[in-house]
Amino acid sequence: MPTTPFATKAEKTPLLFLGHGSPMNAIEENTFVEGFRQVANLFQKPKAIICISAHWYTKGSFVTHDEHPKTIHDFYGFPPPLYEVRYPAIGHPALATQVEALLRPTEVNLDTSWGLDHGCWSVLKHLYPDASVPVIQLSLDRTKPAAEHYTMAKRLAHLREEGILLVGSGNLVHNLRLVDFNQLNNPGAAYPWAAEASAYIKQCLKERDFNSLINTQQQPAFMQLAVPTPDHYLPLMYLLGLWEDNEKLTLFNDELVGGSISMTSLLVH
Ligand code: ZN
Repeated sequence: MPTTPFATKAEKTPLLFLGHGSPMNAIEENTFVEGFRQVANLFQKPKAIICISAHWYTKGSFVTHDEHPKTIHDFYGFPPPLYEVRYPAIGHPALATQVEALLRPTEVNLDTSWGLDHGCWSVLKHLYPDASVPVIQLSLDRTKPAAEHYTMAKRLAHLREEGILLVGSGNLVHNLRLVDFNQLNNPGAAYPWAAEASAYIKQCLKERDFNSLINTQQQPAFMQLAVPTPDHYLPLMYLLGLWEDNEKLTLFNDELVGGSISMTSLLVH
């Protein structure tokens, strides 16, 4: 990762895909947390954030429309301090309404029942510890294929010129069934198929071979183990849809943990 801030191209906000991994990253000190902190220092503080989290995986599309979104602790069996974390960023109902309009003809419902889930706050907490940037979440419609998420993303392009930061939060390789939970925060030995999938995805990204990443039906067999369900992979489609020809890619937190989770995070600028 570059160590000094870069000039923002044509006043566009960069794009982020953050590998969030274990919820414990919210309260632990490790190299991933440090990576999240450093990346926020590379560009101007945005006016607001639209977060597309793997953990708001819905039938139909929703956007949070609260003045004060609540912190959702959407996980089980973790130590008490994790349940005490609050991320008090304010919402941005006007931006939610704008997103609803931009995404037409896709129908998007304004929502006041969700809030911020851990896919969102466990990482934004490190980017903006003072919660000074308003945040809305856009859900992932589980009934839509990757290609449709890619198309929806393109309709949001204009927001990058208004200082709005789009953050996809998931994991490029994510097989929870096969994970070694004791090694979730430690880079280490990965399953061969996980390493293969991680290398494949990164190669496609470097070559800007978006088709191979979008047409998930035609991907090599190892991708089926790496992406057994689409939820953690789909946030990537929003980065691909908004990534313009003249923008470059920087990888950070580029490690596999627990054998089957990739923490690899992406900055497009
Ligand atoms: Zn997750």
